[in-house]
Amino acid sequence: MRYSGIAWTGTGFEVAVLDEDGRPAAPPARFAAGRIRALTEHLLGLQREFADTGESLLTVIDSTNGMLDGGLMSAGLTLYRADPWVLPQRPAFGSVAAEELAAVALRDPDAVVRLSVETGTLGGRSAQMIADIDASVPALDFMRRSGRCLFSGQRERPVVALTFDDGPNPPYTGRILDVLDRYAVPATFFCVGLHALAHRAELERMAAAGHQIANHSWSHPYLPDLSRGEVLAQLERTDEAIAKAVGSDGPRMFRPPYGSRTPDVLRWLTEGETTVVLWDVEPSDWARPGADAITRAVLEQTRPGSLILMHDGGGDRSQTADALPGVIEGLLDRGYTFARVDALPT
Ligand code: ZN
Repeated sequence: MRYSGIAWTGTGFEVAVLDEDGRPAAPPARFAAGRIRALTEHLLGLQREFADTGESLLTVIDSTNGMLDGGLMSAGLTLYRADPWVLPQRPAFGSVAAEELAAVALRDPDAVVRLSVETGTLGGRSAQMIADIDASVPALDFMRRSGRCLFSGQRERPVVALTFDDGPNPPYTGRILDVLDRYAVPATFFCVGLHALAHRAELERMAAAGHQIANHSWSHPYLPDLSRGEVLAQLERTDEAIAKAVGSDGPRMFRPPYGSRTPDVLRWLTEGETTVVLWDVEPSDWARPGADAITRAVLEQTRPGSLILMHDGGGDRSQTADALPGVIEGLLDRGYTFARVDALPT
């Protein structure tokens, strides 16, 4: 067996690979934020090389690294997640070092959790996630009453918001922007900082077309695993990456990765001028149920004021792009108009 770890940093990703004696089995490698395809090819190349000597490769990420596993598993790699209680302390901004991630699986294979495309990055932690969300209801209600949290806009007017998470992600972001252009419909993009850093042209196109660019964290972490400083740094660094490309887009609107939250996380978010944006329409486009199924789910679930959650990032989003004309035409037929989240009547 060979063990690789993938760390994220303020600029991209780092990979380390260990053999069964804990020695480097390949030179450490770094990849800039936009070079996820090269990172994937690197690991696939190593996997083939190790297979020649009868060894397989497993790869470990941590719970603060939510944007890679789906694509890596689809490419044929075996992914595991290491949770904070089996890992050393993280640096102020970044995941645990790549070598540490590889080492934890080498030391104790039971300490890491096998991931699948179906379960996603947080496989095995859904009970905790639901408990955390339940415990957050009073804090969230308070935020809703003070206008600092949205599940939807007001229900009296037939205005809805299309939102796209996890990008920018060429070529799918561009295909989605093409459709929005064709219908002259505004949307909101909740961007991941690592992707914003890498794909400036997409951000420029969003801004030029008048779409809202909002914050979806730097590395798509499971927020309840982070300290206050880490949560705030995830938001601030993402704001900076976006502002560097296209300037600031008004007061911060933030969508927590996975909708994850705890009373603590919500308290930290309300210290700043952050509005938490959730959703009430979820067609599960990330699971790729087919473009028709995505369109149908949106049309069935949408009500006046709806916040519609779709994805331009996180993998192959051709189904989302293919579904979008049907979504827009279906909603226009039903008398809806579209607004950015920051213009949705509340
Ligand atoms: Zn997301």
